[in-house]
Amino acid sequence: MEKLQDEFNLSYIFIAHDLSIVRHISDRVGVMYLGKMAEIGSDEEIYDHPTHPYTQALLSAVPVPDPEMREGRERILLTGDVPSPANPPSGCRFRTRCWKAQDKCAVEEPLLAVPERFKSSDTPANHESACHFAEEKDVVHA
Ligand code: SF4
Repeated sequence: MEKLQDEFNLSYIFIAHDLSIVRHISDRVGVMYLGKMAEIGSDEEIYDHPTHPYTQALLSAVPVPDPEMREGRERILLTGDVPSPANPPSGCRFRTRCWKAQDKCAVEEPLLAVPERFKSSDTPANHESACHFAEEKDVVHA
């Protein structure tokens, strides 16, 4: 695939649930929830500096083979069922499963945008995230 990409100047869109494979082959990564983009950025921004709670939960579930890395690792467990995409929750569609949800999340849909407080900084958190309260969280993953 890489050879063809170089030869014909191609772009690939690769859709998968296995985050370790996605990182291996991707330059840019988008995380979707209920049919909408939750967060998008370079592979380093998404894997090492995720700011959306859904991305953080997904990464915390990636199996870690190294026992030392596993020790003390925080696993973010999502509760509740995935809502129907035909009838998503009001406001933020992730709010019914988000541990950070606040009143604002039920009434105002967060736009996919660089959070205001990260805009003028060169932190890797300076990438688009559809969350009113986007912030970095250290998530140990393989
Ligand atoms: S907008 Fe609110 S509910 Fe949605 S991901 Fe952010 S904190 Fe969670």
